[in-house]
Amino acid sequence: MKISEIKKETEKTAKNSERKKEIAKTTKNSGTKKEIKKTTKDSGIKKSDKNKQTDREITENADKNRSDRKREKHATIPIFVPHLACPNQCVFCNQEKISGTKTPPENISKFLENAANGLRGRFSSVDIAFFGGSFTGIEPERMISYLSQAKNFSASRPEITGIRLSTRPDYINREILELLKEYGVTAIELGCQSFDDDILKKTKRGHTSKDTENASRLIKKYGFELVLQLMPGLPGDTEESIRKTMTKTLDLAPDRVRIYPCVVISGTPLEKMYLNGEFKPLSTEEAVEIAAQYIPLFESKNIKVIKTGLHSSDLSQNEGVVAGPYHPAFGELVRQKIYLNKAEAELRKMNVEGKKTGIILVSTGNISKMTGNKKSNLKTLFEKTGVCFSVKEDASLRQDEIKIIL
Ligand code: SF4
Repeated sequence: MKISEIKKETEKTAKNSERKKEIAKTTKNSGTKKEIKKTTKDSGIKKSDKNKQTDREITENADKNRSDRKREKHATIPIFVPHLACPNQCVFCNQEKISGTKTPPENISKFLENAANGLRGRFSSVDIAFFGGSFTGIEPERMISYLSQAKNFSASRPEITGIRLSTRPDYINREILELLKEYGVTAIELGCQSFDDDILKKTKRGHTSKDTENASRLIKKYGFELVLQLMPGLPGDTEESIRKTMTKTLDLAPDRVRIYPCVVISGTPLEKMYLNGEFKPLSTEEAVEIAAQYIPLFESKNIKVIKTGLHSSDLSQNEGVVAGPYHPAFGELVRQKIYLNKAEAELRKMNVEGKKTGIILVSTGNISKMTGNKKSNLKTLFEKTGVCFSVKEDASLRQDEIKIIL
């Protein structure tokens, strides 16, 4: 069946089920056959959608006003689709271990409802996110069924503000993007990993860097939010190839990036390569250094870095990681390193000779980032300059700004 025919069938089924729900509601509330007929005839579905639209507008305006005063609280309902539609096995990936779940059933409406009810009242915006596989490569019937359930659910709940999904760069084309637009998808994440073709080949990604470039440009052209996932430290990666990947990413100007330094997960081909001595992962220090070097560049171009390193919640069990730069507080280590780099850069412009003590001022809430884990940053600065620093908050500083007083 063609995508357009599948769409028609899915929409018809969804409309019927909405109509049945509406009738059931009316029966419960009034119990009269006359009213049941009237609801059906007057198309109660449309009327109720109109009301929902108004509710949504009110919520959006309220959110806008609130965001001036405090950061909007956001949550995600994740639906993992491990290995669905993956044409090959990328050497580093073991989706079942990463997501800790099996393929979800085709009917996800109940799951969405339970998840959203659990979040109700605590978050002003919630995204539905299909993660883990190659979403746009799933067989059309299943993909459209997921999309249609997500769209219908989102229309019935004003707090759902987006539908996100992750996929492969070579599974993006105009037809797919038009379909995703139609079903209300707001953001697309591409597993980019590297812009070096030799590395993509070695890791058996099955696509080229050109595929990622073309897909990224098309996604932006269609008005979706673009998120690129990067994986420094893959087999064959060097300082030079990592620079190439980061520079290309900056050129493509995605809205957001995720940086996952490559770790060795059990059950993957990479584990064999590691055990055979064919692959040496980055150390945690090296991976922290790389992330700390490039994150400020992304942020200076308004590219938000939404995640750095695998989180414990990404793994079903810690023993899933065999080797490599996995640390439960990886993101925090990176932020601390960024602060250390900032302080060192400032101190290079200052004359520290003969100084014994100094104060580093940081913006509100950032003392621990400057101090470092077990005062590691202050110890490093002392070893390098002979100055003993203390850290204080200064509310007049911009976020992540520092000032050194000697
Ligand atoms: S990295 Fe992505 S494309 Fe590769 S096997 Fe894993 S889910 Fe599939």
